[in-house]
Amino acid sequence: MDIKKVVIIGSGTMGSGIAAHLCNANIPVTLLDLKTEISEKAREKIHKSRPPLLIDKSKINNINVGNINDDFDVVKDADWIVEAVVERIDIKHNIYEKIFKSRKTGAIVSSNTSSIPIKILSEKLTEEEKKDFCITHFFNPVRYMGLLEIVKNENNDLDKINSLKKFCEQELGKGAIVCNDTPGFLGNRVGVFAMQIAMTEAFKMKLSIEEADAVFGRPMGIPKTGVFGLYDLIGIDLMADVLKSFIKELSKK
Ligand code: NAD
Repeated sequence: MDIKKVVIIGSGTMGSGIAAHLCNANIPVTLLDLKTEISEKAREKIHKSRPPLLIDKSKINNINVGNINDDFDVVKDADWIVEAVVERIDIKHNIYEKIFKSRKTGAIVSSNTSSIPIKILSEKLTEEEKKDFCITHFFNPVRYMGLLEIVKNENNDLDKINSLKKFCEQELGKGAIVCNDTPGFLGNRVGVFAMQIAMTEAFKMKLSIEEADAVFGRPMGIPKTGVFGLYDLIGIDLMADVLKSFIKELSKK
């Protein structure tokens, strides 16, 4: 698969992380957001990020920026369009409608959703559009987290999904796995469960946040953020959305 140009819609934590990592692989990328100032600020943040998202900071200008109203035409030339906007289904559906009107035939469209099932994300797409739509779930921080989950739908061309997987492995250095459309896919189904248990136990034991993070961190062989620190890193607002989605999708038993 030839992926020579990528457009990312949504320049927050994940959009900018994915943009920086594509830039690391020398792939031209354009970051679009509601306003150009937002994507410009995101580019500045990438430049100053610590630990650095860019391998070579001098390449920062390979990331173009713009807004979804004046600059949407860049989508026409893209081989891959990644949606990384807020975890709101109505907003995502509106963006897909716009993307599928503009994208070139065969261009891949993917979502970075943490928790929305692909059957819901793709429910308004035509059978033809579904062939090129999947979830590419990168983790934060994108440069440093090895796992990438690719979630397919029943209409996908499997050769295309496998080529995308190969591209992400070879060009982006990711350990990509193709997952089924189950709640939280694989990483979040296990990881969020572990975090919720750890938090609940910490509250029951009346531990302070610092005490809980000191235990549920390096001593247990997991990142030094601990559990509360990891909530902050992911975003407390996003975690609330992820949990709401779990409550809706998971069986009560
Ligand atoms: P964020 O809040 O940091 O950024 C979202 C961006 O989307 C903002 O810049 C916002 O201005 C922009 N936006 C909102 N509506 C838009 C629209 N209509 N058009 C263009 N841009 C729009 O969110 P995030 O943490 O980067 O999450 C993005 C996606 O990635 C979500 O689906 C989330 O579930 C998923 N995700 C997040 C993490 C994480 O750790 N933060 C990890 C994996 C997946």
